[in-house]
Amino acid sequence: MSLSEKEIREIITPLLLSGAKMLDKHCPRCGAPMFEMNGRVFCPVCEYRKKQEHGVDIEKSLEEKLKELASNLPNNLDELEKHLNVMEKIINLLEKYKKLKLEG
Ligand SMILES: [Zn+2]
Repeated sequence: MSLSEKEIREIITPLLLSGAKMLDKHCPRCGAPMFEMNGRVFCPVCEYRKKQEHGVDIEKSLEEKLKELASNLPNNLDELEKHLNVMEKIINLLEKYKKLKLEG
C-alpha cells in the first residue's frame, strides 16, 4: 500500500506542524516514514487507517440499526417511547463520530 496525496496532506503535514519528528525509519507495513512524538515512535498512516476503518464500521452498523428501528415503530406508547430513546442515543453517537472526523 502506498500513500495517497490526501493521506500525506492530512497526516504527515499536521504532524510536522505539531512538532513530531520524522525518523529515518520506515513502517514495515505501509512504507510511510515513522514519527516520534513525546518519546513514542509510531506509524501515523497505519494509525490513521485503523482509526478510519474502525470509525466507518461503527457508523455503518449504527446507521443500519437506526433504519431498522425507524421502520419498526411499535404501536404501544410506552414501547414507542423506549424505542425513540434508543434512536436518540444512536443519533447522538453518530453526531459525535461526525464531529470526531471533522476534527481529524
Ligand atoms: Zn504504517
